[in-house]
Amino acid sequence: MSKFWNRKINEIEPYVAGEQPKKGEQVIKLNTNENPYPPSPMTRVILRTFDYSNLRLYPDTNASGFAEAAAKKEGVLPSQIFAGNGSDEVLALCFQTFFEKESRTSLPVLSPEFSYSFYPVFERFYDIRSELIPLRENFRLDPSDYTGIPNCGIVIANPNAPTSRAISLEDIEVILKGNPDSVVVIDEAYGDFTDPYFTAVSLLPRYPNLVVVKTMSKSYSLAGLRVGYAVASEELIEGLKRARDSFNSYPTDRLAQVLAAGAIRDEAYHRACTDKIIATRRYTTEALRELGFSVPDSSANFIFAKVPEGIDAESLYKNLRARGILVRYFKTEGLDDRLRITIGTPEDMEEFVDEVRQEVNNAKNG
Ligand code: PMP
Repeated sequence: MSKFWNRKINEIEPYVAGEQPKKGEQVIKLNTNENPYPPSPMTRVILRTFDYSNLRLYPDTNASGFAEAAAKKEGVLPSQIFAGNGSDEVLALCFQTFFEKESRTSLPVLSPEFSYSFYPVFERFYDIRSELIPLRENFRLDPSDYTGIPNCGIVIANPNAPTSRAISLEDIEVILKGNPDSVVVIDEAYGDFTDPYFTAVSLLPRYPNLVVVKTMSKSYSLAGLRVGYAVASEELIEGLKRARDSFNSYPTDRLAQVLAAGAIRDEAYHRACTDKIIATRRYTTEALRELGFSVPDSSANFIFAKVPEGIDAESLYKNLRARGILVRYFKTEGLDDRLRITIGTPEDMEEFVDEVRQEVNNAKNG
């Protein structure tokens, strides 16, 4: 609290990111859904040859080089790409561009009760009303729950976080068709880990109310670079640009633009890393199920595992932390019997499973 902060800043509960270990601390980091593999070797070449003297010039506001590369990958026009400083910023601009400010008559934004915890922070920060839609059994999202409710917009992470579950393109279409006057934001931060791969971008030609938000942080191993992007109709992209130019017209810097463009062009490397993570996800899911965990099939680069009977999720989280293994625990009713575990390298996950096995055995014997 401070008398110098305005009321909103005094009252807001900001987003809390997963722990970042101290410099030099040796840990297995499975708590913020980062990628265990380095970014494309192309990024290394670009870094080496980057002309530092260009940094005196402002960057291209539309990140045109990156937008062209992203458009090619997504099969859309460069004018259908909007690049931002991480997908968090792109999402924040979506909230400001497409949803209405709170008033007694304003309609809410709909999102699942358990989802990315930044959405409610944006809603409070931008004074937007929200309505949380309960998930069904085992965190299943039923698209019919998103039709027939007056709203000013819809935000859904697909795959959802932290549940790891994905809905199909058919389900997304039900939501789009049922809400032709609202913008539907599909946050595909983890979309590249669906198996087989699919993306709501394929629905864009038929639904002018769709925005698909993607990130370079997860499957492209560039969380440190801060580049995310939206894919949508030119009309919606134009709206995002208006919001951007009312806030910060240079959200991605020169270096980020060329590095992200290099990474997104290297599809072979991207696919190879993603396939490795999908295989390691399979191994980890099966190993935890054998230890008595209940693990829904994940479509993301993390799993959301319910601890076996007799084990306390928070204690397990703390014991793993004490042994240098970081996972994510949410002290929220409905989620507090689970751990969210990012998929690391096979070696990381073998070590993780060994530690968990010991914990389970200790609990059984103790
Ligand atoms: N959406 C979801 C569902 C996420 O989990 C995250 C990562 N915390 C983001 C968006 C934001 O990722 P970034 O800003 O690194 O692109």
